[in-house]
Parts: sequence; structure tokens; C-alpha cells
Amino acid sequence: MPDHSALRVDGARLWQSLMEMARIGATAKGGCNRQALTDADRDGRDLFVGWCEQLGCEVSVDAIGNIFARRAGRDDSLAPVLAGSHLDTQPTGGKFDGVYGVLAGLEVLRTLHDAGIQTEAPFEVAVWTNEEGSRFNPAMIGSGVWSGVMDIHTAYDTADKAGKTMGDELERIGYRGDIPATARPLEAAFEVHIEQGPILERERRQIGVLSGIQGLRWYDLVIDGDACHAGPTPMEARRDPFMAAAPIIEGCYRLAAAYSPWGRATFGDIRAEPGSRNTVPERLVVNVDLRHPDAAVLDQMDREFRLLAAEHCERYGLDFEVNEIWHMPVTRFAPQCVAAVQGATDMLGYSNMQMVSGAGHDSLYIASVAPTGMIFVPCENGISHNEIENAEPADLEAGCNVLLHAMLAMDRHDAAA
Ligand SMILES: [Zn+2]
Repeated sequence: MPDHSALRVDGARLWQSLMEMARIGATAKGGCNRQALTDADRDGRDLFVGWCEQLGCEVSVDAIGNIFARRAGRDDSLAPVLAGSHLDTQPTGGKFDGVYGVLAGLEVLRTLHDAGIQTEAPFEVAVWTNEEGSRFNPAMIGSGVWSGVMDIHTAYDTADKAGKTMGDELERIGYRGDIPATARPLEAAFEVHIEQGPILERERRQIGVLSGIQGLRWYDLVIDGDACHAGPTPMEARRDPFMAAAPIIEGCYRLAAAYSPWGRATFGDIRAEPGSRNTVPERLVVNVDLRHPDAAVLDQMDREFRLLAAEHCERYGLDFEVNEIWHMPVTRFAPQCVAAVQGATDMLGYSNMQMVSGAGHDSLYIASVAPTGMIFVPCENGISHNEIENAEPADLEAGCNVLLHAMLAMDRHDAAA
């Protein structure tokens, strides 16, 4: 195999492409609003497709609008090595979330093109449809359908707030493609992404080598008591759901701390019924979100949370239910892909650390059907899903170089040299 270790991407060109894409759907505060299957999303897709065609790539679109740009390999029958992410954004999103992973993939193809390198396997860049889930719920529909986790007809019928369906909007913007949205063999799939959290910046590391994605469990904790007047009713005479909820929440924070640094406990919404200032609620519905990257620890957190709920509700004579509404299992990336990312990072001499992703990504679904790996780079103050989202050009360039060399490492990595 030829030695490509001196090969580097063009960081300035990558930055320029990111800034050019950011003009589509640009917001007044410097962010982007390029929600899935809007006119802006179509324009962004068209720009990407045009760039790929300039390189001589073959571009195909599948039935859920996922785009695949393919650069032929010496042996085109081999399973491709793929880089992918998403071009859609939040309504008040940034310039880098998702877009970086797509355009870094493009920069890898451009670098190979300029250097006249023909890989053994085809190299592809994928754009997954509707990763954000802000216009069409849930998130990660394109990669979910492709991986067989979601049903395409359900996806087509998914409507936005105005009642427009995904199927019709795909058709309208010209991205309801003709190839089936089903997984095919991949040698490896990589996704480079901004961290969307503060850890790399805090630890002063340029590259995060991801071993997997955190698992999560979502619950509605429902506690029933008795409504009564806030004034005349003595405290000891009440069946007040909040009296149990307070120590349960406190206990969950202690749980997250006990399993730090990766344990998480979040209470995003609490609804009191009937919801009146001077009435003790008769019912409380608490949204609970528990996360940990180790499946055994997440199971342990689940058990301890249920014990906490039982202990404190019984103490105050309250009825309760723990309704688990979603369990996203822990994702572990393929060892050969993690090794390829680590090897590339070490070869390039970048400071780095192994970590897990706290957020979901397309790679979560791709990992269920293909060997997958992810690379993180820092973002300013860990801020994302915000128009002020920002990243250093040097970090973006470093992540792209890691992507390039991880992909090259997986190019017929098991073939005899
Ligand atoms: Zn993203």
C-alpha cells in the first residue's frame, strides 16, 4: 500500500466552504436556519451536490432524501468507506453542527482528488435527512430509515406544524430519490462533529476519539396526592406530590454525581395539575432523563431511581407510577474504527482524549448496521444549537485530517498489502 502519511487537507478551503454554506439560511445573529426540506435545505443540498459533481463524483439520492456522493475506487465492487453527517439545522442553529461533518467529508474527497490518489474501495460522503428533528419529529429520520430502525411510510406521513408531510416536502424540493433507503454493506462509516459540550475545551485537547454514544432512559414520574387549599390545610394533613418529588429529584442529582463524570440527571419539565398557585396539586408529572455511557451503570441508575421514587412516595402516602417512555441503549463503536481514529490522531500528533457523545447523532443508527466511528473537535464555550455556535479553523482542520487518515486506514485495511 502506498504511504499517504504526509497528506493533509486544505483547512482554508474547508473553512471557505463552511462559510459559503452558512450563507444559505443565514440569520441576523450569525447563525443558520436551514430546517429539513425547506427551500434553504434544498439550496444547501444543491450547493453540496454541485461541489461533488465538480469532483467527478457520482451522486445518488435515496427514497428518504439521503444523498450519497461517491468517488470511485480501484475496485468498485468493494464496500465503500463513508463519511457522513447532516446539512439541516435548528431554527436558530449554528454554522457547524452537522454541516462540518458533511463538508469535512467533501474536503477529504477534494484532497484525494488534488493528490491524484485512487483508493482501493470507493469513498463516499453521505448527507442524512432531517437529523435535527426540529421540523419533523423525531430526530435522525434519514439515518433511522436507512438503518431499518424507522419505517419509511411513517416517515413520509410525519407532518410539520403547518401540516406539511415529509413525503410531500421531499417531492417538492426534488429530493425524493429513486434508490431504496436501505442499508448496504459499508467497510466503515465515520462522522466528525463539533463536541457541542465543554469537555475538550476544558481539557485543552484538540481531538475527541469517541468510543460510543451515551445511553439514555426517559421517564414520566407520575405522583398522585390530594388537592387542597394552600392556606387552611396544615402541612402534616396534606398529601402533596411535591413533598416526595423534591427528595426524589435531589436523590437523582446525587446519583448523577455518584456516577460522574458521565452520569446525567435532567428534569426538563414538571407539570402540576390542576396547576393553580394556591392549591396543592393533586397530580405531578415529572419528566426524568437519566444518561450514562456504560450500560451496566445506566441499569443501576434505573434501579436506584425506582427505589427513590418508591421510598419517598410511600413516606408521604402518595400513589405513584414510573412510566418509562424511551430507552436508547448505549452505542459502542466498532473497535477497528475507534482504532483507526486513534491511530490517525496519534500519527498526526494532535492532543486527544477518548470520550463518549452525550448527544445522539446519525452515527447512532449507522452503528447498528455498519462499523462506525466518530471524531469530536472543540467548539467555543461548548455552545451549540445556538446562532453563536463557533469553532476554531485550526481545530476543524485537525478533525478533518483525522477523518482523512482514519478513512485511508480503513481502505482495504484487512487486505494483504
Ligand atoms: Zn449534528
